Amino acid sequence: MPKISIVVPCYNEQAALPLFYQEITRVASEMDYAEFEFVFIDDGSKDDTLPTLRRLAAQDVRVRFVSFSRNFGKEAGMLAGLEAATGDFVATMDADLQDPPALLPELYKAVTEEGYDCAATRRTTRAGEPPIRSFFARMFYKLINRISDADIVDGARDYRLMRRVMVDAILSMHEYNRFSKGIFGWVGFKTKWVPFVNVERVAGETKWSFWKLFLYSLEGIVAFSTAPLALASVLGVLLCIVAFIFIAVVLVKTLAFGDPVGGWPSMMCVILFLGGVQLLCIGISGQYLAKTYLETKHRPVYLVRETEEGVR
Ligand code: UDP
Ligand code: MG
Repeated sequence: MPKISIVVPCYNEQAALPLFYQEITRVASEMDYAEFEFVFIDDGSKDDTLPTLRRLAAQDVRVRFVSFSRNFGKEAGMLAGLEAATGDFVATMDADLQDPPALLPELYKAVTEEGYDCAATRRTTRAGEPPIRSFFARMFYKLINRISDADIVDGARDYRLMRRVMVDAILSMHEYNRFSKGIFGWVGFKTKWVPFVNVERVAGETKWSFWKLFLYSLEGIVAFSTAPLALASVLGVLLCIVAFIFIAVVLVKTLAFGDPVGGWPSMMCVILFLGGVQLLCIGISGQYLAKTYLETKHRPVYLVRETEEGVR
């Protein structure tokens, strides 16, 4: 029988986990043509997520878990889950039931019968989200698709079912700064997009603030595009051209009309503008340098403290 691994990153999900487990086991029992394995990742939760996982693992052999030594973030959780998963097919989904497990049979059909390597979900509406957040999200997707060669779909969730080849492709990307929306897009493979209507989380609260999302989007841009560096160079070239023209104008003005002192306001404008542009460009290079610095350290993406087999 084919085996499906369900990878679920959890951070402070004690309230949602029992509901999630109930729902996923219900769906699993309906899909009796496949074998299941549930891989939960406790991402350094501060509530009773870990004891809940221990309890679930004790009563159900299909439940496995990996518990981190601290909070490493959802990206690290997904990586740990994909590494631990042993299935022929691997699905990633959130613990809060915002990714409905009931879609699994449809996703499974796409990868087994319709010839796709991956079936991924995207939400059709951004209803219920603050308009300003939707606006920035749209801008982000437009921008990143223009400046990077990874195909990143607007509204794509991290809820997807992949064949083993694609999972192995993702695991072959050893970068430390993991931006999974970009990684999924970068590896390619044939992906079917399954739309569904957005639902609220069942319990607990979201871990993402607007500011966190904003910083995360910048990470995505730095991780999957070098366009900002090109922008810095282009700005430099443009300003040089402007400067040459300006020098010519000033020279002619001074030599022909003899007015060496005037023009203090325009000089201040130029100095301030150039100062700003220089700082911006240094900042952009700095971002890339910082990421390169972190990559060269080759630190592990996460550290495991405990699994279903016991404390390490
Ligand atoms: N999550 C995680 N580590 C974190 C933050 C979140 O593993 O540091 C998990 C969380 O438990 C959930 C999923 O990532 O299963 C998505 O988080 P959340 O529901 O807060 O995000 P949203 O759905 O609001 O985008
Ligand atoms: Mg959620």
